[in-house]
Amino acid sequence: MGTCSNCNGTGTISCKTCNGSGELACKTCRGSGRSSSGKYECNICGGYGNHTCNLCDGSGDHTCNLCDGAGHF
Ligand SMILES: [Zn+2]
Ligand SMILES: [Zn+2]
Ligand SMILES: [Zn+2]
Repeated sequence: MGTCSNCNGTGTISCKTCNGSGELACKTCRGSGRSSSGKYECNICGGYGNHTCNLCDGSGDHTCNLCDGAGHF
């Protein structure tokens, strides 16, 4: 029985894509929520400026794939 070094025994690992925030800044408007002219809402993110990270579904972390979320072996 050992602690999982991948998740340090927590069973979850922080999402590297969004750095654990669960959201990604919209690349199209660079997080401003406006189109390049500034007149319209960015239609990619709907004016919000961020997307829910689709890799972690907005939770900011993933179940550790090495220990399957148990945190230890
Ligand atoms: Zn683990
Ligand atoms: Zn946008
Ligand atoms: Zn994420």
